[in-house]
Amino acid sequence: MSDHAFELVPAPTAIAGSPLRKIVAWHLGIAGKFWLVASLTLLTILLLAVQALRLAEVTRSASRHVQIQVLGGITTATELEILLERHRRLVESAPAEVDRKQLDHDQLNAMSVETELEGLLASGEWDLIEIIEDVLPRLRVLRRQVFLFAANLAQDKASVVAAEYNAAATAAAKRSFDYRALRARDTAAWARQTIATADAFQWWLWLSLGAMLITLGPLGLSMIHNMISRLVSLRAIIMRLAGNETNIEVPGTNDGDEVGDIARAITVFKANAIALLDNDARLARLNRQFDAALNNMTHGLCMLDGEQRVVITNMRFRELYRLSADDAAPGTTMRDMVEGRIAAGFYAGNSPDEYRKRLLRPTTETSVEVHHYIDGRSISISRSPMLDGGWVTIHEDITDSQHAARRIAHMATHDALTNLANRVLLRERLDNEIARCRRGRGMALLSLDLDRFKAVNDTLGHPIGDALLQAVADRLRQNVREIDTVARLGGDEFAVLQTDADCPEFALGLAQRLISVISAPYAISGHAIEIGTSIGIALAPRDSSDADELIKCADMALYRAKENGRGTAVMYEPDFQTQSLARRAIEQDLRHAMASNALELYYQPVVDLETGTVSSVEALLRWKHWERGWVPPMEFVPVAEEAGLIGVLGQWVLETACKAAIRLPPGVKVAVNLSPRQFSAGDVGSQVIDALAVSGLAANRLTLEITESTLLKEDGAVIDTLNRLRSLGVTIMLDDFGTGYSSMSYLRRFPFDGLKIDKSFIRDASSQDDRVAIVNAIVTMAQSLRMKSVAEGVEDAADLELVRAAGCTHVQGYLFSRPVPFDQVITVIAGCRLNEGLAA
Ligand code: C2E
Ligand code: CA
Ligand code: CA
Repeated sequence: MSDHAFELVPAPTAIAGSPLRKIVAWHLGIAGKFWLVASLTLLTILLLAVQALRLAEVTRSASRHVQIQVLGGITTATELEILLERHRRLVESAPAEVDRKQLDHDQLNAMSVETELEGLLASGEWDLIEIIEDVLPRLRVLRRQVFLFAANLAQDKASVVAAEYNAAATAAAKRSFDYRALRARDTAAWARQTIATADAFQWWLWLSLGAMLITLGPLGLSMIHNMISRLVSLRAIIMRLAGNETNIEVPGTNDGDEVGDIARAITVFKANAIALLDNDARLARLNRQFDAALNNMTHGLCMLDGEQRVVITNMRFRELYRLSADDAAPGTTMRDMVEGRIAAGFYAGNSPDEYRKRLLRPTTETSVEVHHYIDGRSISISRSPMLDGGWVTIHEDITDSQHAARRIAHMATHDALTNLANRVLLRERLDNEIARCRRGRGMALLSLDLDRFKAVNDTLGHPIGDALLQAVADRLRQNVREIDTVARLGGDEFAVLQTDADCPEFALGLAQRLISVISAPYAISGHAIEIGTSIGIALAPRDSSDADELIKCADMALYRAKENGRGTAVMYEPDFQTQSLARRAIEQDLRHAMASNALELYYQPVVDLETGTVSSVEALLRWKHWERGWVPPMEFVPVAEEAGLIGVLGQWVLETACKAAIRLPPGVKVAVNLSPRQFSAGDVGSQVIDALAVSGLAANRLTLEITESTLLKEDGAVIDTLNRLRSLGVTIMLDDFGTGYSSMSYLRRFPFDGLKIDKSFIRDASSQDDRVAIVNAIVTMAQSLRMKSVAEGVEDAADLELVRAAGCTHVQGYLFSRPVPFDQVITVIAGCRLNEGLAA
């Protein structure tokens, strides 16, 4: 709560805290309070009026009483007294009157006075009537006697009666006087009462005025002040609320009157205002997020109402259709937008009309369609109905993705380097062609493998190798028909699907042509390159009507072609299949043999020509098949490689050889052959170290023989492994030197300890001169690289003489010993005294 919230509390009034205020402010409503004040005022006025009425009544009755009772009485009494006095004078003067006339006149006067006195009886004044009624007859009687006596001149008697009369008249006058005095007193009493009433009225008047002043004055004013000040502060609160200020305290919410009600209502408003503001803020936030989301969408969005009028569009939508914000303002009809596009020459489909129809047709369900615009773009539009009858349409420019999809589709079916069909596409076409074959056509599948390609790749580098592959691809493409398919299946393997090849000669003709075309020299980046190719051919439906089978047939034919020698084409023959089946049989038997420990190692000594003693023994695998007898390693090692068994087998050879080597005479090493596939099958480095550790053989008593193809892949890891092992003291020899590709490059790639000259150079060379030349060349090279040179296949003295003359450091061959079981090799080692023998 902020400090200024307290400012809104009304300033304390004069009667703040007084019990009156509490009653007035807390327990009565405003109307109640006004009624209270009004009633109090009215009551005062009423009291005043009653008092005034009373005063008037008192005054009136007093006046009336005084007028009628008192003044009337007094007047009548005075009249009575005057008449009595006149009567008395007339009567009392009678005795002395001598004039008869005067006497009669006086008597008449007296009688008229008597009539007047009788008239007084009408005054109604009871006391006076009593006096007159009592007195008048006697006075009349006495008057008559007086005048009678006087008329008869009986003055004495008249005087006597006059005296009697005098007494009666005096008594009557006295009674009238008393009555008058009584009335006077009565009047005074009435006057006093009137004065008292007037005094009381005056008091009431003051009192009422005072009361009125109090009710209308301090009480009313304070009430009004209190109310107004509270209303003013509430008004301020309302104004602040109206200004969206909500952090304020509403005063007087505990008050029991209407202002309290207003205050409580304002707290409700405040709560509502806070909720509203919160809602507003949330809505604003949502709006912002919605806006951001809408305008950052990669898709265009257009929402239409039931009348196909724009409700909302996003930036992307306007971009897609080149619309300004005004062009797509809410309320714009779909038709206007479509016509606008058409007018700008921008539409999809064959004609503006078609486009118009397509876009403006009524739709009732969700749909997705692609519009191809004349500017080359493809836009995918999805429409979904909304509950209110409107539509949400989502627009996506799929031009790029369609290109990409086409590109991906192309990539998925084509070789990236040569843009030839890949295995997938070949397979697909093959399936199609085979289906056509079933309708009586024939086709040929040519499987190609380049000869000497790896050597080019290794010596001249991958870029040249790639360029060479591209050149080969071009030549292949140029030498087949449109309807044929050329595919690259990986590395230097290609395939050609020759359609409508009904006879073997047709396919063979193409194969021969391709061999000669590919064998023609290439000039790439200044290098003159010559390669060749071997081709295997399979025919459908002759050889098979199954794509996989056909590929296998062609591969088998290729295998055979390579075996036959380079640059040949071989047509598949059914017994290739049996040979292949035989290989599979070997594989199965080999698995069995490995599992049942039916393999063993034989050892063949290698003799150091300098010392004439055995320097090492080469471990060679031996397998005696239960049925076929000895199976040569050249037959089952490739099967083990292809079947993925070489990893386990190689590890077993390593461990067994190392364990056996412990029992060799000191200084005699053991040599183990490593297949190139072993490196990809497992961690050869660890296997070697484990074998050494387990057997306890010193690293410098182990020789590893690897072939060039191990280094074929430019795999740093293989070189690293070899370096690591060599640094431990293991000897690394390059086996089968001369049979591979461009041997020099491998010699550069790794510092071999020595090389083994393949036995074919010793055994198969066509002439003695060739043998000498080749062996000499190899040995010279080895010498210059400070490597040992081991001659394999030394079977007789002539061979030995040749290699010794050439300068070989070591020899191995049947001349000294065939590969034999371990126990025998120990004997052979012990008996080997070559130099002595020579000397002898
Ligand atoms: P390699 O490494 O060149 O082994 C030498 C081969 O020459 C052996 O054939 C051996 O018996 C034969 N040989 C030795 N002296 C003479 C001779 O004076 N005249 C003739 N004609 N041949 C001789 P083998 O034992 O049949 O082995 C053939 C190939 O099998 C080996 O050639 C090697 O490449 C592979 N091999 C043998 N054992 C293993 C092994 O444990 N692991 C691996 N990866 N390959 C092995
Ligand atoms: Ca070897
Ligand atoms: Ca060899």
